[in-house]
Amino acid sequence: MGTNFERYRVKAGTKVDLGKEPTRGDDAYGGDKDAGYARLDALRDEIAELQDRLYAEEKHKVLIVLQAMDTAGKDSTIRDVFKETNPQGVRVASFGRPTDEELAHDYLWRVHKYTPAAGHIRVFNRSHYEDVLVVRVNELVPEDRWKRRYGHIRDFERLLVDEGTTIRKFFLHISKDEQRERLQERLDIKEKHWKFESGDLRVRERWDDYMAAYADAIKETSTVDAPWYIIPSDRRWYRKLAVAEIVLETLKDLDPKYPDPPDNLHHIAIPD
Ligand code: AMP
Ligand code: MG
Repeated sequence: MGTNFERYRVKAGTKVDLGKEPTRGDDAYGGDKDAGYARLDALRDEIAELQDRLYAEEKHKVLIVLQAMDTAGKDSTIRDVFKETNPQGVRVASFGRPTDEELAHDYLWRVHKYTPAAGHIRVFNRSHYEDVLVVRVNELVPEDRWKRRYGHIRDFERLLVDEGTTIRKFFLHISKDEQRERLQERLDIKEKHWKFESGDLRVRERWDDYMAAYADAIKETSTVDAPWYIIPSDRRWYRKLAVAEIVLETLKDLDPKYPDPPDNLHHIAIPD
């Protein structure tokens, strides 16, 4: 069984209509949540094995970008996809509201220093895309300015790719109904209270504007080398599984190898 998660990739130059993109997904693994989680377990081990090689080889740089509306599951995707990996080689950078110092610079300034080094996987929890999403919806800069950013972002990501970075970008796509349920959970469940922010309700009010901003951002910046994937995210297991499958395929394509030993180790004896 299984499914072809590559079909969630947005081909360069295609128009994006998020109202038509699935938020639930098909019935991978028979639509069976338990089978999905069992598969996820196996995927995690494989991801960890390849990550160990990637770290040892110190050749490839991998950048994973996660963007989504509130409650879609960015945090738990990071936790559950990379759970078995070595934190020395997998790091997360979360981008919140810019500081005064960050705002005093161009919008890529704060992002560039967190791009991955050779041998590393870096996960962006939000990213430079906020600068054409929240910034656009809230009119934090004039239109002519944010519009030019699509071009900068394509060029910036091209620079990273040309210098050896592999980029995969994920939009975790939930329905507005599913978000209502998840926000309600944050009010109802004590352990989730801390996640509730009243500001999220104001963002929800602008849902359609955000969908339009996401659609344009994805269309303008999904390239052959830095593609977007629109991941159906109303079901938690399906979303994690889809991201894990694509991350694993990406690592397999890189085919990282442990480096050759420096000397012929057979001839070395450890002194007593
Ligand atoms: P959270 O991910 O829940 O910690 O929230 C982070 C908040 O920071 C979100 O409301 C984002 O929209 C906001 N944010 C991130 N980047 C920017 C940016 N460049 N400009 C304005 N707000 C931002
Ligand atoms: Mg939040």
